Amino acid sequence: MAVRIDGKALAAQVKARVREEAARLPRQPGLAVILVGEDPASKVYVNGKEKDCTECGIQSFSHRLPAETSQEELLALVRELNADRLVDGILCQLPLPKGLDEEAVINAIAPDKDVDCFHPFNVGRMSIGEPVFLPCTPAGVMEMLRAYDIPVRGKNCVVLGRSNIVGKPMAMLLTQADGTVTVCHSKTEDLVEFTRRADILVSAIGKTRFVTADMVKDGAVVIDVAMNRDENGKLCGDVDFAAVEPKASFITPVPGGVGPMTRAMLMENILTAAKQHQAT
Ligand code: NAP
Repeated sequence: MAVRIDGKALAAQVKARVREEAARLPRQPGLAVILVGEDPASKVYVNGKEKDCTECGIQSFSHRLPAETSQEELLALVRELNADRLVDGILCQLPLPKGLDEEAVINAIAPDKDVDCFHPFNVGRMSIGEPVFLPCTPAGVMEMLRAYDIPVRGKNCVVLGRSNIVGKPMAMLLTQADGTVTVCHSKTEDLVEFTRRADILVSAIGKTRFVTADMVKDGAVVIDVAMNRDENGKLCGDVDFAAVEPKASFITPVPGGVGPMTRAMLMENILTAAKQHQAT
């Protein structure tokens, strides 16, 4: 039976460390949170991030804007926050309402305040192994592997999904940790041939019970990034947890796995930004 990787407990440790370090800084770190429109899921995410900030001793500056906000108004707010010395990080909750250009907004955020690590400058820095910030979800996964002493070096790592925010950076970080990485996506032929050889299998597809027991090697480490809803509306991942758990050596549950770690890594990125701003 696999060891369950406890993302909630690990996230609590990371946040406690951030809180301790934040309290020692001359100025309280600050995060500006922009939420445009009324998307219910986005509201839940934003509320969660603001709660994390409170827990970590980080000040959050909330900017709730109506769905009719224009591109120019949104960019003007980002420019204002870029110049605000009390703001160390800027987070614009995605997706934006139709008509707003997400890429333009991401590109407008000053790279030194891009705590989500979405800006092309930071993505480039990460890809050459000189990161300022790491994207929160893949960074959270790497932290989990480290905390449970799971070696990556030389291991066969398979990442399901190639999105810019999860799959691609995940593959990059595993490669930098000396894993041998294969990225699979919707056009991959014989996907099961790849998953069955994986020592570390990371799934970030967004399809309930996609990863079944026959796709997993005995003793594999199975990391489930997805946050899906099953037929009863219950939060679940990509992995058929009950069937895969007996086969794996380590497994992350959903909820209580990668999700809390993603949030904790955001707090760590804000702390990093605050340290840099206060050192200059
Ligand atoms: P995304 O942008 O929709 O990407 C999904 C990826 O899965 C794509 O690369 C797609 O391939 C691939 N895919 C889809 N169907 C497939 C199939 N049948 N076989 C193989 N690959 C397939 O999603 P995302 O933003 O990366 O998010 C993925 C999941 O992680 C979602 O459930 C999301 O909610 C969750 N998530 C969780 C956290 C967290 O904090 N835990 C953070 C971010 C995202 P193509 O590229 O070929 O289309």
